[in-house]
Amino acid sequence: MSYSEKAFERKRRRLEAKQKQEEERRLLQEKEAAALRKAQEKFMRAALREAAKAEALNEVPIGCVIVKDDRIIARGYNRRNTDHSTLSHAELNAMRKADRKLGDWRLEGCTMYVTLEPCQMCAGALVQARIDEVVIGCMNPKAGCAGSVMNLMQVPAFNHQVRIVRGVLEETCSQMLTDFFTRLREQKEREKEHR
Ligand SMILES: [Zn+2]
Repeated sequence: MSYSEKAFERKRRRLEAKQKQEEERRLLQEKEAAALRKAQEKFMRAALREAAKAEALNEVPIGCVIVKDDRIIARGYNRRNTDHSTLSHAELNAMRKADRKLGDWRLEGCTMYVTLEPCQMCAGALVQARIDEVVIGCMNPKAGCAGSVMNLMQVPAFNHQVRIVRGVLEETCSQMLTDFFTRLREQKEREKEHR
């Protein structure tokens, strides 16, 4: 092998090793992302089970859970009509329980998984509680305040910003609401016919 051939061979081997390293890094990142997604979906399914409790009361099916150190510390679902209270949104109901459990109003180190994008009241409360992260199922274009109508959770001028993850089990979360409102409309029409 001539000198230039040897140099070429060395260069080729270095390139191969680098490509292999990059491929391994990419595979590891993919594996980590898949594991994270799986964990997020697990907790979103728990939030969906809370939403089903709201639906059983004929409430708009919205549910959430609050997770700390990989464990659910509080659950909540929408009970606005049942409790006759504007304040009885899923998020606030879960936050009250988490506060009691932790003996603290601060939710530092916690993540909320919620089936629908929070409203202005809940988004504000989540900032006040200094929660780390909110994972959202589906967005609410007409009322959501985590990026739809506005993004109250990431206003730079406030002293705290919340990390937001969107679109976890989006289809399932969205379908649950669509089905609920379809049934509600059908029910109203049936009632009209019977009058
Ligand atoms: Zn709300």
